Amino acid sequence: MQPPRNIIIVGAGIGGIACALALSRELTPFVPDLKITVFERHNILSTSGGAINLTPVAQRHLAQLGVLEELDRMGPEGGADVAAIELFSMRSGHSIGSIDFTDQRGNGFGGYKGRRVMRIVLSMAMMAVVERSSNVEIVFGKKVTGGEEINDKAVVHFHDGSEAIGDLVIGCDGVHSAVRTRWLDPNRPSEYTGFSFVQATMDSGSISSRAHFRSSALNISRHGSVLTSYCDRDREQVFASAIVQLSEEALQTYRLEPGQDWATQNRMKRALRGELNHRFGKCAIPYVREIVDSEAEWMLYPVYHVCPGGRWYNNRVVLLGDAAHAMPPRDESAAYALDDAILFARILARYRTEPLEGVFDAYERLRRSTINHAFKESSRMWDRNRDMGVLESRLKEWTLPFYLRSHRDEREAAWDFDAMKIAIPMLDSSEDLVTLHSFLKESAH
Ligand SMILES: Cc1cc2nc3c(=O)[nH]c(=O)nc-3n(C[C@H](O)[C@H](O)[C@H](O)COP(=O)(O)OP(=O)(O)OC[C@H]3O[C@@H](n4cnc5c(N)ncnc54)[C@H](O)[C@@H]3O)c2cc1C
Repeated sequence: MQPPRNIIIVGAGIGGIACALALSRELTPFVPDLKITVFERHNILSTSGGAINLTPVAQRHLAQLGVLEELDRMGPEGGADVAAIELFSMRSGHSIGSIDFTDQRGNGFGGYKGRRVMRIVLSMAMMAVVERSSNVEIVFGKKVTGGEEINDKAVVHFHDGSEAIGDLVIGCDGVHSAVRTRWLDPNRPSEYTGFSFVQATMDSGSISSRAHFRSSALNISRHGSVLTSYCDRDREQVFASAIVQLSEEALQTYRLEPGQDWATQNRMKRALRGELNHRFGKCAIPYVREIVDSEAEWMLYPVYHVCPGGRWYNNRVVLLGDAAHAMPPRDESAAYALDDAILFARILARYRTEPLEGVFDAYERLRRSTINHAFKESSRMWDRNRDMGVLESRLKEWTLPFYLRSHRDEREAAWDFDAMKIAIPMLDSSEDLVTLHSFLKESAH
């Protein structure tokens, strides 16, 4: 079989761009006329979404793709080093423990700690690498509305009536993926988790209280939690993100929609600040109190997930990242999209002359149980943010240090994960095993 030459990726988020870069690196040596086109529904890179935490794994994989170098080149804006996320009780103000991104000697895992960076800055760094990759093109303003497979090609349909034809389509279009809901698996829509983020970025100079954390803190209470973190190396910007339980009805009170008049928007923003104040206004930590009381531009992000167990691929279409398995975001969710991209690219390059279904199947066998486990863990962690009574929340505070300690080894082992080193599964059929053996013989020379 001919390897795919014309690859379409839907979505220029973290997963989509990472996938384009990984495929370009892995497949170009075997397919010199490779063409990768990424179609993104927005007209420009999205500037929304606040800051994102990158774990040691995410940083390692971004380094492999050449993105970390670009981030570093951006100077202080390239992100704040995060050695640990410290946990505090909003009731007492006391420290509860920490999630460390360094070992006992203060070294990062495989050389990498954590990093908090504005999403737009990360996207710009990824774009800078794309610009150096001659066979990757990103086309903005192309919203995918569906697709179909005709003979040995995949056809993608756009909102403007146009279409694109490829040998392979990779759906990296996030939690509400059109590739999933309008093509591959219409019975698996995204679902609201019952929780939302309320986020704002502000000048650190505008906060008069002394910061109670070194680089990042998760402040917990019985009405949800508030993350406070620097997101640039000079610590000029503070990113605040509250995780709160909100019903779907409550969402309507705060959700800004295009077309709403100024007065309505203003009323909703005031109501959102009121919600934060009501939940966290009595916090024992002055820094957090001042933040939730600030006039910052708070934005609401309802959190959706995609239930595990659905279909990830068809003959010529596959889902990666949040499109396949959006889970309640933890500090490592983006890392799963990066892992997906690198692993898929390696498997496709190795089995490039095999039918795509075999490639997809090998990829799924490698990923499914890891993703199912991560989903379960994320959901469990998120449940800790639900509104709770006094006794239950005290119990949460008492048991959290034990939980952090008992899961430390598991967490640290996960941060050593390297998608470039992991062994790739064999294809299922014996014919394919013969191909694999000849490949291994070839690569031993
Ligand atoms: C509020 C919030 C905070 C988070 N914080 C963190 C964090 O601190 N650390 C972390 O690791 N993870 C975090 N996550 C999770 C992380 O953002 C996701 O796991 C990651 O972005 C997934 O990457 P992706 O490329 O699969 O999807 P996305 O990043 O969602 O990208 C999807 C892309 O597809 C485009 N698209 C969508 N539909 C179409 C269409 N029909 N046609 C064309 N293009 C389309 C979108 O515009 C977007 O560019 C957070 C998530 C949320 C919601």
